[in-house]
Amino acid sequence: MKKSTKKLIVALLASMLISMTACNGQDTQSSQTSGNTTNTSAASTAKDTETIYQVALLQSLTQGYYDGIIKASKLKEHGDTGIGTFEGVNGEMIVIDGKVYQALGDGTVKEAADDETIPFSNVTFFDSDISVDLKDIKDMASFKSELDKTVNEKGKNMFYMVKISGTFEKMHVRSELKQEKPYKSLDKALETDQREFNYENITGTVVGLYCPDYMGGLNATGWHFHFISDDRTKGGHMLELSFKEAKAELDLTPEFDLELSDNSDFQSMELAKDVNDAIKKVETDTQKD
Ligand SMILES: [Zn+2]
Repeated sequence: MKKSTKKLIVALLASMLISMTACNGQDTQSSQTSGNTTNTSAASTAKDTETIYQVALLQSLTQGYYDGIIKASKLKEHGDTGIGTFEGVNGEMIVIDGKVYQALGDGTVKEAADDETIPFSNVTFFDSDISVDLKDIKDMASFKSELDKTVNEKGKNMFYMVKISGTFEKMHVRSELKQEKPYKSLDKALETDQREFNYENITGTVVGLYCPDYMGGLNATGWHFHFISDDRTKGGHMLELSFKEAKAELDLTPEFDLELSDNSDFQSMELAKDVNDAIKKVETDTQKD
């Protein structure tokens, strides 16, 4: 029983929001009434479609904590869809259809080995609650604002995992080269080791996560998207896109589960430090700016 991580389960959000969304699951009453009774062991054996599982914090990654906290095999026990990165920020992670893919800094994609370790990720078992047809999306800003309409209608204080499959006229992604210790902060690493790729008329899937505004201390608020091609040979962290039409499937998710490391380096980090500017930079900057 090697215990290398400590787990903190945070069931977020009250039933008032959930009752607004008839499409959502039925586990809200249990989370509301369970109080001090925990049934997490039962939950961990069933596929939990109502929980966003997060490994560490984007804030720890941004500050340069790139050591893997859990293995890919364990991540897959918590979800079949999501995004993240790998030890040493060795590429961008796309989890889709239960497989974990690694979009590397050289522009190639491979399926991650089960013992590959992960310093940051968000996954869930995807369960489409809402479908939205998107048309004539010219850029990232219009893409986000279209998706925001659904979020604002269904409840902006929920989490959403989203998948958009289609043919993208423009797809601009980035990845990064693997970092070696001593690790630099992520914005410093990306200054030299970010690699960008522009594809045209590429068919694939965008996997994205929406975090509510109050998540600013644990993750990036708003949208964060990764892309993978249908043939699983191209992908990365998405910087720009355009497309004529595609269907977005959104999985409205009311619970949140955070996995932390008891490693002393992790425990010595100042995680309340405001790194929002650095996060914005690493999420959105291109090298051409
Ligand atoms: Zn990313």
